Amino acid sequence: TTKQLIMSEKLAAIGEITAGVAHEINNPIAVMQGNLEVIRSVVGEQAEQAKVEFQLLDDQIQRISLIVTKLLQFAKPEEFAGFVDRHAPDMVIADCLPLVQHLLAKAAIEVRLENTAERLVLMNRTELQQVVVNLVVNAIHAMPDGGRLGIETRDSTRGGRPGVEIVVSDSGVGMDPEVAARVFDPFFTTKRQEGTGLGLSISQTLVTRQGGTISLASRPGEGATFIVWLPEAE
Ligand code: ADP
Repeated sequence: TTKQLIMSEKLAAIGEITAGVAHEINNPIAVMQGNLEVIRSVVGEQAEQAKVEFQLLDDQIQRISLIVTKLLQFAKPEEFAGFVDRHAPDMVIADCLPLVQHLLAKAAIEVRLENTAERLVLMNRTELQQVVVNLVVNAIHAMPDGGRLGIETRDSTRGGRPGVEIVVSDSGVGMDPEVAARVFDPFFTTKRQEGTGLGLSISQTLVTRQGGTISLASRPGEGATFIVWLPEAE
């Protein structure tokens, strides 16, 4: 429809501008990082006294750098497209868990894994990991006082097409319908400082590029369930 066309043109324009700005920001970040290193080595011993401050600068510069990377990935996903291969989803999930282990432990979250998928999916491994980690980190954020995290894989045929579902569910704060309707919008976040609002938008781009879908079910106070469906690798 015309509305969809205007929307996709708008998104393309946002993408172009975002990519330009992100590239511009990359240079000053590199300069700051380099100079920070120089200052640290020049002040030598005394750098110890300002350890906390140096660490703070380091962390914040890295945070900006990560946001810029995410912006670029959102704006120019095709430049980030990596080598696509066949994967057993549960193997990819097993790789993801160590990355979030410290967060799970800190928030006292109980994890339940259930892997019954036997089919393989076709995707870039890092990208599939990124999608899963994104969903898991969001789930952890939704459970600041602890709770249950479920990660499940199962074979699932949709519209006659064999595929696999990866289901990430939490017992967290959940979402009202207005929020749920917007979570895949680029830059939509309810996390103020901590959020970029790009996680789910990028995840959706990566999954749909492989012919898959990503959907959710949630109610306020009753947690959220995200379902990634990917077609079986031929
Ligand atoms: P970010 O995490 O940077 O905010 P995302 O695109 O990953 O960006 O998520 C967008 C928004 O969707 C979040 O700010 C939050 O409001 C909502 N959201 C995502 N996952 C969950 C979840 N599991 N439970 C509750 N809300 C969620």
